[in-house]
Amino acid sequence: MARGDWVTVRGGGVFGLACGYELAKRGMKVRLIERARIGAGASGGTVGMLSPHVPDQWNAKKQFQFESLVMSGAFWDAVKAAGSVDAGFARVGRLQPIAKEAGIALAEARAKDAAENWGPEFLWRIAKVEEFGAFAPVSPTGLVIHDTLSGRASPRRAGAALVAAIEALGGEVILGEAEERGPVLHATGLAGLEALNAAFGKPVGSGVKGQSAILAHDAGPVPQIFAEGVLVVPHADGTVGVGSTAEREYTDPTSTDAQLEDVIARARALVPALAGAEVVERWANVRPRAASLSPMLGAWPGRAGHYIVNGGFKIGFGMAPKVAVVMADLVLDGVDAIPEGFRVEDCL
Ligand SMILES: Cc1cc2nc3c(=O)[nH]c(=O)nc-3n(C[C@H](O)[C@H](O)[C@H](O)COP(=O)(O)OP(=O)(O)OC[C@H]3O[C@@H](n4cnc5c(N)ncnc54)[C@H](O)[C@@H]3O)c2cc1C
Repeated sequence: MARGDWVTVRGGGVFGLACGYELAKRGMKVRLIERARIGAGASGGTVGMLSPHVPDQWNAKKQFQFESLVMSGAFWDAVKAAGSVDAGFARVGRLQPIAKEAGIALAEARAKDAAENWGPEFLWRIAKVEEFGAFAPVSPTGLVIHDTLSGRASPRRAGAALVAAIEALGGEVILGEAEERGPVLHATGLAGLEALNAAFGKPVGSGVKGQSAILAHDAGPVPQIFAEGVLVVPHADGTVGVGSTAEREYTDPTSTDAQLEDVIARARALVPALAGAEVVERWANVRPRAASLSPMLGAWPGRAGHYIVNGGFKIGFGMAPKVAVVMADLVLDGVDAIPEGFRVEDCL
């Protein structure tokens, strides 16, 4: 495609906005159409942990995610430089308590895997929990896995930063409905998966509801914490994002209930510094989960000029920088760098 031509992106979540930004950066005239509001879906949340899979049993999916996480710092800096809005990204690292003695040998093995697969720039190491001061997790062994690859960003500020960047680069962000111009990228989250289920006559994706919260606590730029499904992410604005439930069955996608109270209680038990922190918001929405459990990327089979960018599931914010690059390569230059397992066809 010629630079300066129109491209339409549907969906104002992190996948659509990241693609819109990348396309605008490459000189395209971007029209991003969001039917409700920016962050109306899974991307309007509170957690924002950008963290890697475990570094063993390396595969194309892990490599893609690793590259996206490595890119994240430069990506969010460039977004801020373009639109003057800060997504709150920082590579603060992550702590995972080692609960049992048996976990130490596994963590040591994974430290070797990380050295091999991540290279020398980022560490996966075993450390004493007291190294980490007041905002540290409880660890029965006194040890934690400390990785220096993980980062965090504020989901809502990330959305605002990407909108500002797209507009500063000459693109349009339209709330409601508008005419599609040029090729169309469908980054429409759960609604998009449901449309694909209907179009293909089989289940290619579904939703997994998640509930999360914001607690008032200014931890500073310290590592985030993960243990047994509980994520604790200190943000730059003096809050801490806490999550998340994972519910395959649900009736109301945006209600919160006792399951979230349980997550908050577990977060307080995990990080004693949060004991008295006030809950300032409770939130819920539905993660778009592709049948492959990986992002679902590529041309829409049988529908020329239409593309699918979906399936971010639990790691959409971490994957967005690289997803945007491979989708722009495909749409603009016909270069297909989508890894095996991430293709639309992998879900059919
Ligand atoms: C509780 C919870 C915690 C999470 N924590 C993390 C985390 O710590 N780290 C991480 O990386 N990920 C996390 N995730 C996952 C992450 O939020 C998702 O992977 C990501 O937001 C998916 O982005 P998306 O743009 O594909 O979809 P969405 O954000 O759902 O966006 C889709 C958008 O498309 C719009 N839309 C739908 N149909 C149309 C249409 N026809 N035309 C125009 N617009 C349309 C919708 O209104 C919506 O705004 C979490 C998710 C939840 C629910």
